[in-house]
Amino acid sequence: MTQTAEYSKPLPRPTLISKPFWDGLRQEKLLVQRCRNCGRLQHYPRPHCIVCLSQDLEWAEMSGRGTVYSFTVVRRPAHPAFAADVPYVLAVIELEEGPHMSGNVVGTPVEEVRIGLPVTAVFDHVTPEVTLLKWRPAG
Ligand SMILES: [Zn+2]
Repeated sequence: MTQTAEYSKPLPRPTLISKPFWDGLRQEKLLVQRCRNCGRLQHYPRPHCIVCLSQDLEWAEMSGRGTVYSFTVVRRPAHPAFAADVPYVLAVIELEEGPHMSGNVVGTPVEEVRIGLPVTAVFDHVTPEVTLLKWRPAG
């Protein structure tokens, strides 16, 4: 997507734990933590496995394919910076590998979004440092 010099919306602030996720997005890779002890994939990033509490975690690249698990159509912006975007879709996406993650569904009228809709990752390079993960209908 296009990159603008004047991006006025709130931006994520990566932490030591989440930085690899954000670095991956910048390289157009969707990375999720995987536990080396039990194999569980998890998102959002944490310091330990949510199943076995192991701190032996690695980063695994996901396919970028998923389906809409749940969604809402935002018609009143939660922040003034998003006023020009309404209505827009905020969804929970179920990756084909299993983990869930939230994001906007773009590239389609909001009326076309359905639970179960196949989607693919969109890497939106909003600033030179920050890439946001969004989703668009597959195919
Ligand atoms: Zn584990």
